[in-house]
Amino acid sequence: MSKLAQRQKFLTNCDAATQTIHAPILDLAQVNGHLNPAGLGHTAEFSALGSFGQSSVGFENLAAYHQADSTGKAPYGGAEYAIVQSPEAEQVCHKMSALHRGAGAIICPSGLAAITTTLLTFKPTVIAVPDNAYYPLQRFLSWHNQPAQLRPVRYPANAAADELAAILTREATGGTPVEMIYLEAPGSGTFEIPDLAGMIALAKAQGIRTVMDNTWASHVRCQPLALGIDLAIQATTKYEGGYADTPSGVVIAAHADDVARLRRASRVLGIGAVAPRICLRLYHRLDSTAARLERHSSSAAYVMDWLAQQPFVESILCPTLPSSPDHPRFKQYFSGGNSLFSVVFKQTITPQHIAALTDRFNLFRVAESWGSHVSLVLPVAGKREFTPLPPGFILRFHIGLEDPADLLRDLSQATALTM
Ligand SMILES: *Cc1c(COP(=O)(O)O)cnc(C)c1O
Repeated sequence: MSKLAQRQKFLTNCDAATQTIHAPILDLAQVNGHLNPAGLGHTAEFSALGSFGQSSVGFENLAAYHQADSTGKAPYGGAEYAIVQSPEAEQVCHKMSALHRGAGAIICPSGLAAITTTLLTFKPTVIAVPDNAYYPLQRFLSWHNQPAQLRPVRYPANAAADELAAILTREATGGTPVEMIYLEAPGSGTFEIPDLAGMIALAKAQGIRTVMDNTWASHVRCQPLALGIDLAIQATTKYEGGYADTPSGVVIAAHADDVARLRRASRVLGIGAVAPRICLRLYHRLDSTAARLERHSSSAAYVMDWLAQQPFVESILCPTLPSSPDHPRFKQYFSGGNSLFSVVFKQTITPQHIAALTDRFNLFRVAESWGSHVSLVLPVAGKREFTPLPPGFILRFHIGLEDPADLLRDLSQATALTM
C-alpha cells in the first residue's frame, strides 16, 4: 500500500479533530511539504489602514515627505518607508509587549533574526551562553568569527549560579568581562533548566544585561521580564502563531532605552520587514495561544505516559516529568508544560529501526521547527561542551492538536511493526 493510501485508511478511523488537521496535507508532495497550505489561516483584514507590504509610500510634496522622514511616520498612519514597520507589525509588538509587561518590542522575520538582532544591537564583547542553546545561535556565534567583537563562553545547560559566577570571575580576571548573559530554558533538544533566579541575581549584582530565549514557554508559561530578565526573545514562529505559517520573532524589552536601541538596530539592519499578513495572523492567534498550549501539553502528557512503559524506551527527556532532574526548577519557573519531549531509545534500537518507524507513521511528520497543529518528530544530535547527550538514539516529539487517542494508535501500530 502506498504511504498516501495507508494514511487515508488510518484517517478514516480518526476523530474529526485529527481528520480536519490532516485532510489538507494528505500528500505532502502536493502541498510542497507545507503543513498549513495557503488560504487556511486567518485572512480577515486587520484594519482599514492595513498595509499590504508595499515599499513606496507616496507624499504630495517635499515638505510632507521631509516631515515624515524626520519622524519615521507617514501622515496616513504607517511608516514613511513601508519596509521598516507596518501598522500590523506595530500592533503585534504592542500586544506582545503587553502580554510580557514590557516597555516595548520589535518584530523580526524569524526567531533567529530576533536573536541575532539582539546580539547586534547590544554588541557584547563576551557573552555567556548555555551549551544546549538553540543550534542556529551557536552557528551564528561561530560564523561571526570575530572573537574580539563577540566571544561566547559556554556554561553547562543545567548550571548552578556558582558555576556561572566562576566563569564571570575568570573572564573579568582575564581582562574582558562578560557583558551579556544569555539564557534559554528549558534548552533545545534535551530541555535542561539552569538556576535562573541565581543567575539573574548574579547578573543584577554585576550590572550585566540578561537575555532569555523563552520560545519553549511562550508568554503563557513564563514571563521572563517578571523574573528580572532584561530582554525576552520569542520565536513566534512556534506557539504564538501555532500553525506553521507565521515565521517571525519578537524581542520584548523591560527598559524603554533598550526598546529604542532595538528599534534603531532593526532600521539600520533593514530587518524590520515582516509581511503584514503574517503579523495579522499572529495578532489574532495570540488570543488562542493559551488554549492551544493546554491541548498540546495534556496530549503530550498522555502520549508520554504510554511511551514510558514501552520496552524500547530508555528514558524520556522532559522537565514536566516528576522523574526529571530539572523538575524542581520547572515547578519554580513555569506554570505548565508544552508539546515537546525527547525519547531516548534503548541502545539496541538502531538508526535503521528509527527510519522504519518514521516510514510507518501516518500522523507524525518528519519536520524541523515545532509548535503547530501537526505532530512532528526529528532526531536530536550534536556535541556539547559540558553536558553530553545520553547514549541511545534520541527522537524529539512535538505533539500537535490532533485527537491524542489517534496519536497513540499511530504510535502503537508503528512501533509494533518496527521495534
Ligand atoms: C525555533 C526556535 C528559534 C528560532 O525560530 P525561527 O523562527 O525558526 O528562526 C529560536 N529559539 C528556539 C528555542 C527555537 O526553538
